[in-house]
Amino acid sequence: MLYPILIILALVGVAILSNRATRECRWREYRRDGRSLWRCAACGAETETSNGKPPKTCLRHHG
Ligand SMILES: [Zn+2]
Repeated sequence: MLYPILIILALVGVAILSNRATRECRWREYRRDGRSLWRCAACGAETETSNGKPPKTCLRHHG
């Protein structure tokens, strides 16, 4: 009776991974020295902007 549980766990895992792959970055802002440091909650990328707005693209694929 373990297989149904394993299947459910596998489906949940795939759903989470696929969501992560397709979901856009979720930038969170951290103020630092008058600038905005943005950290992506989805992939962990960090960047700074000078206009106070979050980046539009995910930086995960840019090294
Ligand atoms: Zn990201």
